[in-house]
Amino acid sequence: MAMEFPVKIRHRITLYLSIAFLLVLGVGGFSLYLAKSISGSVMEVMLQSKHVETTEAINTTIQHLLGELNRVMITGKLNKLEHINLLKEELNGYFEGFISRHDPASDAKELRLFDQIRVKAASTNLLAERLIQRAAQGLPPSLDDESMPDQMVHQLLSITKQLNNIHYAGINFELQRGQQKMLAINLIYLAFILVGAALVILANHFVSRRIVLPLNRLASATQEIAGGDLDKRVPVTSDDEIGSLSHAFNLMGGKLKAQDAREKMFQEELEETVKKRTKALEEANRYLNETQDNLIELEKLRVVGEMHASLTHEINNPLGIIVFKVKAILAEGKENGFPPELLSDLEEVTRQASRIAQVIHSLLTFTRRTPFESTKLNLNEVIQETIALIEQPFARARIVIEEELQPNLSYIQGDKNQIQQVLLNLLSNAKDALPQGGTISVETFQDGDGGPIMARVKDNGTGIASDDLSKIFEPFFTTKEVGKGTGLGLSVSYRIIKAHGGDIWAESQLDKGSTFTLSFKPTKKVQVIEET
Ligand code: ADP
Repeated sequence: MAMEFPVKIRHRITLYLSIAFLLVLGVGGFSLYLAKSISGSVMEVMLQSKHVETTEAINTTIQHLLGELNRVMITGKLNKLEHINLLKEELNGYFEGFISRHDPASDAKELRLFDQIRVKAASTNLLAERLIQRAAQGLPPSLDDESMPDQMVHQLLSITKQLNNIHYAGINFELQRGQQKMLAINLIYLAFILVGAALVILANHFVSRRIVLPLNRLASATQEIAGGDLDKRVPVTSDDEIGSLSHAFNLMGGKLKAQDAREKMFQEELEETVKKRTKALEEANRYLNETQDNLIELEKLRVVGEMHASLTHEINNPLGIIVFKVKAILAEGKENGFPPELLSDLEEVTRQASRIAQVIHSLLTFTRRTPFESTKLNLNEVIQETIALIEQPFARARIVIEEELQPNLSYIQGDKNQIQQVLLNLLSNAKDALPQGGTISVETFQDGDGGPIMARVKDNGTGIASDDLSKIFEPFFTTKEVGKGTGLGLSVSYRIIKAHGGDIWAESQLDKGSTFTLSFKPTKKVQVIEET
């Protein structure tokens, strides 16, 4: 699902930039206004200075004119008349300039004082005309006219001073205003610098706290997740783009972890399934091997079984007749005095025929299928009964049987006759391995309550060559002389023990002796056997 991200940081940055722009614009505009206003003040100062200059020039020119008139009055000569007229023209020019630079509405006070100066100038002109007329008539100036220039100079100085004072006040005012504006500009720039610095610090703080720090955290958390720490999360400290990014990162971490857990679980399940399948395959393989072994055994038995009828009908029966007839001939021969060589030959024929009959009997036993009668058995008891059967003949062969039977064995389930047959086979083989006599030991033991029940038949006889050890359970394998062994005892024992769900194996060393071990599965605990 596509996620909608807020745009708060962009809005905030746009806002801050707008404020900064407005601030710069405001400060710049205001400074420009102040600068323009200062330039206005400078112009005003220059204008006022010009007024002062003009006023001073008017004053100087009038005084000059009065000085000329004074000289005319003292000397009574009018030779400087042109100079007086020039001064009057000059004065008129100054008057025009003065009027043109003053506004009647705002400069009423200056114009009033200026009017007084013009009156003084007009009086001076009149005085000049009077003096010219009187000089033309050869008359000296009147007393009033004589004193007039000095009075005029004083009055003019006073008016000029008043007028200049107004202009100086104007200059002063404009200078002060300019100074204040300059100060204001300086203060504005100072404030602008301070506000700018504060804004830079704030922006730096904002960028590092809200953007750089969380991004660094995200970068290092990404590296940790890439390194395998899928529990790594980052704090969501804001609701802006960075907050959304952190939130999305945490979601991604959670999904990665869940995915990883699923993968691990899948892997474990897969491993478990592979293990189970491998075990099943091994089991099937073992079963196949066993089945193959059994099939080989069955094939052999089938052949022997097929031989059963012919052995019975084609060999055993005629053999019985032969033995019977030879025995009859022998008895008759003994009665009728047959030659001893013939009698000995007949006895030999009887012996050999009897051996053939014994072998055939063994084969018939091997192939005969008797019903399996399973009961709960105490192995120690079965062993004791079996030993009781053979003790006497074994003693005659100078063989001692030692029993080491562990009491309290668990019961086993089985056919007593068949187990006895196995034990008789093992004891009989041990006896054959001790032609000079010796000791056979029979032991039983069990590891714990649930462990297998073991029986061990051990002799210190001839032992078995290592090449033969792997063959002794095969049917018809025998190392015994012809007529003594059939090679069927151990293969029958093997079949019986396997049919009981147990196992049988042999350990042997040539010239040192052999040990045959039987193992059975336990059923229930046997009560304590009373030793006698
Ligand atoms: P048989 O006794 O008729 O030969 P078995 O199957 O009982 O047949 O035994 C096979 C062979 O195993 C024997 O011929 C013998 O070589 C060997 N064997 C069995 N038990 C012993 C033993 N206790 N000591 C030495 N060899 C033995």
